[in-house]
Amino acid sequence: MMTSNEIRKAFLDYFASKDHHVVPSAPMVIKNDPTLMFTNAGMNQFKDIFLGNQQRQWPRATDSQKCLRVSGKHNDLEEVGHDTYHHTMFEMLGNWSFGDYFKKEAIAYGWEFLTEVMKINKDWLYVTVFGGDEKEGLEMDMEAYDFWKAHISEDRILKGSKKDNFWEMGDQGPCGPCSEIHVDIRPDEEKAKVPGRELVNKDNPQVIEIWNLVFMQYNRKADGSLEPLKAKHIDTGMGFERLCMVMQGKRSNYDTDVFQPLIQEIASKCGKHYGDNEQADIAMRVCADHLRAVSFSIADGQLPSNVKAGYVIRRILRRAVRYGYTFLGFTEPFLNTLVPTLVGQMGHQFPELQKQQELIQRIILEEEQAFLRTLAGGIKRFEDYAAKCNSKVVDGDFAFELFDTYGFPVDLTQLLASEKGLTVDMEGFQRGLAEQKERSRGAAKVESDDWQELLPGVEQEFIGYDCLEADVRIARYRHVKAKDKEFYQLVFDHTPFYGESGGQAGDTGELKMDSGKWKVVNTKKENGLIVHIVDELPEDLTATFHASVDADKRQATACNHSATHLMHHALRQVLGDHVEQKGSSVDSQRLRFDFSHFAKLSHEEIREVERRVNEMIRQCLPLEEHRAMPIAEAQKLGAMALFGEKYGDKVRVVKYGPSIEFCGGTHVANTGMIGSFRIVSEGAIAAGMRRIEAITAEACTTYADQQQEQLAVLADLFKGTKDLAASIAKLQEENASLKASVEQLQKEKAAGVARDIEAKLAASPVLVERMDSDVNALKDAVMALRNNHPDMAVVLGSVTSGKPALLIVLGESRVAAGLNAGQMVRTLGKEIQGGGGGQPHFATAGGKNPDGLDKALALANELIAH
Ligand code: ATP
Ligand code: MG
Repeated sequence: MMTSNEIRKAFLDYFASKDHHVVPSAPMVIKNDPTLMFTNAGMNQFKDIFLGNQQRQWPRATDSQKCLRVSGKHNDLEEVGHDTYHHTMFEMLGNWSFGDYFKKEAIAYGWEFLTEVMKINKDWLYVTVFGGDEKEGLEMDMEAYDFWKAHISEDRILKGSKKDNFWEMGDQGPCGPCSEIHVDIRPDEEKAKVPGRELVNKDNPQVIEIWNLVFMQYNRKADGSLEPLKAKHIDTGMGFERLCMVMQGKRSNYDTDVFQPLIQEIASKCGKHYGDNEQADIAMRVCADHLRAVSFSIADGQLPSNVKAGYVIRRILRRAVRYGYTFLGFTEPFLNTLVPTLVGQMGHQFPELQKQQELIQRIILEEEQAFLRTLAGGIKRFEDYAAKCNSKVVDGDFAFELFDTYGFPVDLTQLLASEKGLTVDMEGFQRGLAEQKERSRGAAKVESDDWQELLPGVEQEFIGYDCLEADVRIARYRHVKAKDKEFYQLVFDHTPFYGESGGQAGDTGELKMDSGKWKVVNTKKENGLIVHIVDELPEDLTATFHASVDADKRQATACNHSATHLMHHALRQVLGDHVEQKGSSVDSQRLRFDFSHFAKLSHEEIREVERRVNEMIRQCLPLEEHRAMPIAEAQKLGAMALFGEKYGDKVRVVKYGPSIEFCGGTHVANTGMIGSFRIVSEGAIAAGMRRIEAITAEACTTYADQQQEQLAVLADLFKGTKDLAASIAKLQEENASLKASVEQLQKEKAAGVARDIEAKLAASPVLVERMDSDVNALKDAVMALRNNHPDMAVVLGSVTSGKPALLIVLGESRVAAGLNAGQMVRTLGKEIQGGGGGQPHFATAGGKNPDGLDKALALANELIAH
């Protein structure tokens, strides 16, 4: 039996033998693309080539790509665990032709690999072709049908609908018909009863799609119409885990060697046997699957968090913890303990896992701990709700609140409810969910028109490393409508503007010609294009414009970016080689740098990092820049590749003395230009993850000035002091001793007042009075009177610093007679616009309206009299 690692290798070897260049998997977490958070198909990393924005590096390629399908167009999350062949994270094997071979070869290769190399029984296979679509005006894909006919009998070629057999990248862009290959792995007796062809695309877990061959031949325009593509492409995707299932003679992906080590470890940890109980089996599958997804994301630099991609990862992790908690009895963190097994199994194919094992484990542990607390909190919320609930139905809004704030999937709420004989208002829950989806969709909605080509075929060039101004022409433009603003995007033939990427903010600046000026408000990188954003379109779009970057801002940004490199180097020297960059954000104001490290930086470490960076600044190290260095050579030079970043064969290398990095950003010509560097904050952002913010150049001077001024103001307050710190310490001491005397005096005063009150109580047990000092100070003294005066009813009110307050103390017999201080204070509290609470014999309230105090006291008299 072939192992999964052998199967992956056989695939890549086969396509390499057909002249395909073997490329590494791109990161699963996508940075720098506003339209997609995670890689969800093999083609994502080649998107710019298909869009025609980037030249192909090779005509043919093949790879195994880490994919995650948990959001957006492809979301399989709810299926995962319940079925046996959908995962959140999976590997997609692919072969690609960029304007090279087309349908005939793609079909022949696919068939040969499955039937000759993998030796899958031909009688198990079915294929589908696009059957045409009247609304689109598209005919059936006869070409594909005829090519398939050469390999497989016609009763195994099925016609599919647009839904299954027409692939689109998005609402716009490249698309085309596709052909899927399905495999029937049912036992022979079942095959004899129902022919496989009747079960294709019918959600049968043993008649499943394994490979999709996409024939990209159209471009979908913004108005929905299709135009033929000049260069036609092949994009194929085969589920690696599904292929392993077929090759290893299993009926479930989870029974292959990809998943079994994890499943078996989970089973032994929870003391259950996989295969005994459907619900426990589902939970084990969920845990094994989700652990992979979360670990790979963290390795790619995406931590669980409360927003965007981080929130998606947090939700996956919580789903696993929850299934483990409910169905496997894991009430303590356990997922993190599976990380070594995962690393042992996949670490050699994916070294990013191996290298970061400790970090991954720590982060998962921290998340588990936090969520188990949340889960306990949510269950308590539910118990409280159920205790008070007068109806048999749990409110849909409440179920949604649990889902939204406690991460409770609604089936958990249903489970908790059914244990109490309640049901959940599912319609109400769904409404809440739909409203939330609508809100987030509305917020993210962006409508882009088609690009208008003015200079077709022009390849844009970035010239901003060398100059900040240039005469440019508009190559294409389009109108974009986002939530509450409209703008235009311009692409020039060449541009000095840097588009936001690699953590560096985009340039701003100006476009000028005789008849006017246009502000470039931002520059972004989108699908490999540098896109300039302007609020208004020039009248003459074909003119030549003088484009100039805001030079001061660019310079300040460059100082911060170069300083980030120096600091990265210094951090590794001071703290150790385990320091890995996890995120970086640089603009003209400051730099922010996230990195792995397991302890808070000491004051001395921070000072030492600053000292080393400033030393490199004073050394005036010149920039050594290599624009297109072969990646192997760059690595030999000592440049570090970052996990979760995608690099081409040639990379740009930025070097200042000992600091060597892969980087596409803009930098100072010489470190001396940075002037000065200072760390302004350091803190934790997750377990094993720190964040530093720092400033450079002019910002350092401003910062130092501000601190000096503050000190001067302070010194002024302590006229003539030689030692400011000693003066402040002395002041604090004096203050503490004064506070103690004041408290003592107040206590004595309260005792005096209490004696007065006692004298008054001797005359009459009811005392309703307004005092001139805070009634809260009298609490203990008045409570002490209760022993000797069981029939007392004391209501005191005061206004101090403009704030009214009430104190009510009742003796035992008053309480027995039905008077309730807690209830009284709620009624009286309304008069002073306040609230309070307490027990039957004692209550206090504070409020906002001092003018109501007299009325409250009058009301107190009435309540006591009744
Ligand atoms: P399905 O209908 O089974 O969900 P799909 O149509 O979504 O598949 P494609 O988008 O064509 O699949 O992806 C190509 C291949 O990737 C599929 O043929 C399948 O083998 C595999 N695949 C797709 N989704 C998953 C998943 N969630 N887990 C594992 N493999 C998958
Ligand atoms: Mg799918």
